[in-house]
Amino acid sequence: MSDPRILILGAPGAGKGTQSKRLCEEYDIEHITTGDALRANKQMETEYGTPAEYMDAGELVPDPLVNEIVAAALEDADGFVLDGYPRNESQVEYLEDATDLDVVLYLDVDEEELVRRLTGRRVCPECGASYHVDFNPPEEEGVCDECGSELVQRDDDTEETVRERLKTYEENTEDVIEHYRGTDEFVQIDGEQSPDEVWADVKDAVDAQAE
Ligand code: ADP
Ligand code: ADP
Ligand code: ZN
Repeated sequence: MSDPRILILGAPGAGKGTQSKRLCEEYDIEHITTGDALRANKQMETEYGTPAEYMDAGELVPDPLVNEIVAAALEDADGFVLDGYPRNESQVEYLEDATDLDVVLYLDVDEEELVRRLTGRRVCPECGASYHVDFNPPEEEGVCDECGSELVQRDDDTEETVRERLKTYEENTEDVIEHYRGTDEFVQIDGEQSPDEVWADVKDAVDAQAE
């Protein structure tokens, strides 16, 4: 099998980051994530203002900024898992011009579960690993299992901003799911299972599609 080109879709908190990390290890592919790229440049001044102004309000960062991030990352990648992009129709069009995909995974999770996951999330600022205080705690409280760094809570993982992000998701990104549903590459996965059960379904889907 050549390196798979994977798109992973789902609401904020659906488990995209968690499963993407495993996909990268399993298939030795690049993790392309607009959220991490934007967080690394949160205070950068652009003609649209800083990414932080949008992110802390739970809104989408303007398309030209994210399209540029994705274009640069795709240029460097053979196989990849694309996480957090596209989030609206115009990003879908941009992506379709930029690359083909082997498999489109959609992690389906109910809204109240998303809120519980996001408000309890803790992330590693060094390696990007994602934990949950109850559902997926690290071995030692507040410390990353993988690299030993101190875990942090993201600025936008507060209850208020989480609600805004879910509203933004409904208004913009649900159409993206509908765009891919019904294509040959699309596979819907029950994202409410345990992380290991979700992973088993994810791996099966990629192995079946990316031959
Ligand atoms: P989550 O993993 O919880 O869905 P992300 O880390 O993907 O969150 O995104 C954090 C924030 O970064 C979003 O709320 C949004 O402001 C911005 N962002 C990330 N990806 C995009 C994108 N493709 N288009 C516009 N804004 C984006
Ligand atoms: P996304 O990248 O889609 O925003 P994450 O992978 O960061 O989602 O997961 C969001 C939160 O939910 C994290 O705290 C993570 O540890 C937790 N989580 C991920 N997958 C599961 C799962 N299958 N069951 C319970 N909690 C999960
Ligand atoms: Zn770490």
